Amino acid sequence: MTAAELIAQAAKRLSDAGVPEPELDAKILFLEAFHMDQVHFLMNRMRPLTEEQRAQQETYEVMIDRRSARVPLQQILGSQEFMGLTFRVTPDVLIPRQDTETLVEQVLQEQKDPDIRLLDLCTGSGCIAISLAVMGGYRDVTAADLSEAALKVAAENADHLLQERWKEGCRFTLRRGDLFEALKPGERFDVLTSNPPYIPTEVVRGLEPEVKDHEPWMALDGTEDGLAFYRRIAHESKAWLNPGACIYLEIGYDQGEAVSRLLEAAGFCNIEVIKDLPGLDRVVRAEIKK
Ligand code: GLN
Repeated sequence: MTAAELIAQAAKRLSDAGVPEPELDAKILFLEAFHMDQVHFLMNRMRPLTEEQRAQQETYEVMIDRRSARVPLQQILGSQEFMGLTFRVTPDVLIPRQDTETLVEQVLQEQKDPDIRLLDLCTGSGCIAISLAVMGGYRDVTAADLSEAALKVAAENADHLLQERWKEGCRFTLRRGDLFEALKPGERFDVLTSNPPYIPTEVVRGLEPEVKDHEPWMALDGTEDGLAFYRRIAHESKAWLNPGACIYLEIGYDQGEAVSRLLEAAGFCNIEVIKDLPGLDRVVRAEIKK
């Protein structure tokens, strides 16, 4: 059997299981299982598989079984690109989404002082906090999460992505706790970022199996109306922020109005809703008066 035939068979199985992009996933997993790059693949795809490739073929079958069970591709590969960096992912963290790059880019664009103190809540894989530490050159970044298991993944990501920054004196701190309960009394920050759980519970129930059955429910479920975390952040954050501090929150496409109103009621100013690349509302930013 050739590589092309093996992939076609696998794609058929994925398609029967309802996987949205069966050919693409079958090919990506093939390259992973056979440790092959694109060029090598193109040159060899019509040749029969060799005897030595048997072991990889078994690995590939296991990967296809898992993908057929709707395990997300990124959990099988163990990683996802975000802001051009490779983040390790496990079932304990939300898979970094391209949408979230909008938030990171907004912070990078607005916050030019490397000496500000940043806080990222509900950090998960650490993708927001770590990419800001890498790309913004900020010297003091704290990232917190309620999940011990997620913090382990964030720590691994920090270990492999922040080596250079540590040499330059960057401080990156991980804390465990429920939102601000992770912090020490008296701490103050200049920038707060968060991609909290924001999907209404009923909506989570209707999502694709990859998300609702395999990503951490606690990273998705924003309670009945999806706004619980924004309410708490709007009310509790001011005690932890310096005058003039800025907050950047990822939101669902239809939450711009509601989250802006919550922040306004809590006394924030210069509130702005920012769109993602597809043109949907994705981030709310707001300031504390100076
Ligand atoms: N953007 C994610 C999704 O649509 C949800 C992330 C979140 O709730 N913070 O699956």
